[in-house]
Amino acid sequence: MPVKNRFAELHDDVTAWRRDIHQHPEILFETHRTSALVAEKLREFGCDEVVEGIGRTGVVGVIKGNTDTAGKVIGLRADMDALPMTEVTGLPYASKTENAMHACGHDGHTAMLLGAAQYLAETRNFDGTAVVIFQPAEEGGGGGREMCEDGMMERFGIQEVYGMHNWPGMKTGEFAIRSGPFFAATDIFTVELTGLGGHAAKPHETIDTTVMASQVVLALQTIASRNADPIDRVVVSVTSFETSSKAFNVIPSGVTLKGTVRTMSPEMRDLAEKRIGEICTGIASTFGGTAVLDYTRNYPVMDNHAEQTAFAAEVAKSVSGACEEAPLVMGGEDFAFMLEARPGAYILMGNGDSAMVHNPEYNFNDEAIPAGCSWWAGIVEQRMPAG
Ligand SMILES: [Zn+2]
Ligand SMILES: [Zn+2]
Repeated sequence: MPVKNRFAELHDDVTAWRRDIHQHPEILFETHRTSALVAEKLREFGCDEVVEGIGRTGVVGVIKGNTDTAGKVIGLRADMDALPMTEVTGLPYASKTENAMHACGHDGHTAMLLGAAQYLAETRNFDGTAVVIFQPAEEGGGGGREMCEDGMMERFGIQEVYGMHNWPGMKTGEFAIRSGPFFAATDIFTVELTGLGGHAAKPHETIDTTVMASQVVLALQTIASRNADPIDRVVVSVTSFETSSKAFNVIPSGVTLKGTVRTMSPEMRDLAEKRIGEICTGIASTFGGTAVLDYTRNYPVMDNHAEQTAFAAEVAKSVSGACEEAPLVMGGEDFAFMLEARPGAYILMGNGDSAMVHNPEYNFNDEAIPAGCSWWAGIVEQRMPAG
């Protein structure tokens, strides 16, 4: 089964939906227009049930197969949200909203899952139930977590769940996957360093937080180089360094540092959090100041389940002939919460030679649509075969 013929027919429709969503990007949980559009389409396709407002602006559609002898239920998940950035593609369907852009291809994900839903509702050539999940706030807001906390898995009886993301640099419509830890846990931290401000020409009368904070930034890099087992993986990045002074000649009384931590195991996550605290308070006290750390655990490691990963790879092979071993990704993915709740797998699909996701030049590749839709349909038809 290469790309399903029906998806060649639907290619123009799905492309038009994708470009419409692209032109109207919405951030985090504010996916009101997109959610309404998704719900309207799902009703139009004849889904057996369409529920809005799960995880605030999430939408779920239920499609029953022609038969249901074993009570199987599979969830397919797409994300709907955009990023707070300015598009520079110059495309005729570029974002019409200021400081909002579909720079991660969630417009494509949503449109492809809609295409698959239309096909599945038309054909129903499977034994069980398909649940299509459209989540808001993948980009840091935890929309997937909120849908799970809203009882989505139990309410719809979802037994397995699958996700997909486009991937620039991989050939259009080709797939890659890996079993086990795949995307990193993504934590954020803020450090408030306090000293004593004063005249820049009289440093001996101050406790200089700029010097203190500079030492902290450098020392945080020793978590990866000196504390972590070299075989393990950890990223500690300080991304914001802000002093309380705006003047050339005033030593600031305080500095605020912000950053992110990426890890691939719970042990490394614990270690990084512990060491950040020790380094900040230790260095601050060396200089006679104080440090207050606010550490927030955001997305956990996204861990693909072995059996479902092997199955997802088989479906990918049936669509595009091959499925590569994907590399580890130190980015985060909200689908991690769904994979904590249910067994399942997450796959990457090639977006061709495009700019990387989160780049203002990025655009989802519409040529990948038939392959993406076919993979979704294949997950349902091959996991719950008819007759
Ligand atoms: Zn993204
Ligand atoms: Zn994304």
